[in-house]
Amino acid sequence: MEAQPRLRRRPEQKKRPRGGMRLLRAPLVFTGFSPLIENGGVLLGDDGRIASVGAAKDLLKDAPGAPVEDFPDSILLPPLVNCHAHLELAALPKIRDDVDFTGWLGEVVAEKKRASPADFERGIKEGIELCRVGGQGVIADVASATGVEKSYGKSGARVVFTPELICLDPSGAAKAVENALGRKAGGNASWGGVFAHAPYTVCEEAYLECAKALRREGLLFTHAAESPEEVEYCLTGKGAIPERLFGNSPVNPPPSPGLHPIDWLDKIGVLGNRTVLVHCVQLGKGHVNLIAARRARVVLCPRSNKNLGVGSAPALELLRARVNIGLGTDSILSAGDLDLWKEVTAAVDDYGFSPEDALFAGTSWGARVLGLEGESGSLSPGRRAAILVRKLGEGKDRWERIFSSSGENCFYVN
Ligand SMILES: [Zn+2]
Repeated sequence: MEAQPRLRRRPEQKKRPRGGMRLLRAPLVFTGFSPLIENGGVLLGDDGRIASVGAAKDLLKDAPGAPVEDFPDSILLPPLVNCHAHLELAALPKIRDDVDFTGWLGEVVAEKKRASPADFERGIKEGIELCRVGGQGVIADVASATGVEKSYGKSGARVVFTPELICLDPSGAAKAVENALGRKAGGNASWGGVFAHAPYTVCEEAYLECAKALRREGLLFTHAAESPEEVEYCLTGKGAIPERLFGNSPVNPPPSPGLHPIDWLDKIGVLGNRTVLVHCVQLGKGHVNLIAARRARVVLCPRSNKNLGVGSAPALELLRARVNIGLGTDSILSAGDLDLWKEVTAAVDDYGFSPEDALFAGTSWGARVLGLEGESGSLSPGRRAAILVRKLGEGKDRWERIFSSSGENCFYVN
């Protein structure tokens, strides 16, 4: 695993006057809801909330005499929103590189069986810390190991907890969903809904129970259309998933629906605006429009998909169809680390997103996917949000300087 930077304290802990407004000023400010601001600032009220954002000179006119805190060669932006992580896996041994998707998944399952509760607990704690030092304010976490949700702490990034549901047997669907819903997160984590693992590990009855239970509150997350093997199984009931993933197992996957996973989720009525589809790499003709028409939300994990060799999501098509998109790291065992900034960069390099859209996806759009648009992902007036400061790197224009910025110089101010 590549070492991630430690979060530094603010370089200058100046004593600030009690009360009154103060202006944070930087060459670049990204609000999460407007175009990039040059020579911008964030005006903080005496209650610590954001009073306004904009050009620094205009803000100073609004608050003449306000003390100014300068962040030279830096960008101010909202903390990043990681829409998909498996924190509990952060302390497990690295999976070797020479395996395909099914081989990788089999190894993860084996490592999870070998791991102790203390390993998962350590993974949660280390994972949150890695996310926090990488500038993430929100992490949507999938928790599968029993009781691991008690390990979320009270400090650091906000965790959106989603218990993982795996249910192969239709007769156990109601109980499995009840058990998932009964899990309570510790620390300052909030409950985000249920994570139904995937169409090859969750039967129709369990998806339906989930959708019913979550129709008013919470979101139904699921990995969907991630690998060619998943699509092959859903379409034909054959391939590496039944033969190798379940090959030596005493249990069988749920019956193959004979449909592409997206078509199947739609047919059974769970492809709706409370559904969050994670991955969406293997989309066929018409799927982008179907996802858009159902107003389902999508989380893209470009580096995980690349590392597992499953392909690249049709992200620009999803964007053009106005699908609500966020970015996720997925697990450290697939992405190699938990650095969401690298997903933002990959959205530009691999998907062809504009730099601005990639930053939106990593902040305010991600918050919207998680239903947190009123609380996170933007420097909106009225919020008591922490503000992320990243030191700009080298480059011939402002976007190159932003994208070459170093996580080593990333810290929060508020
Ligand atoms: Zn995942």
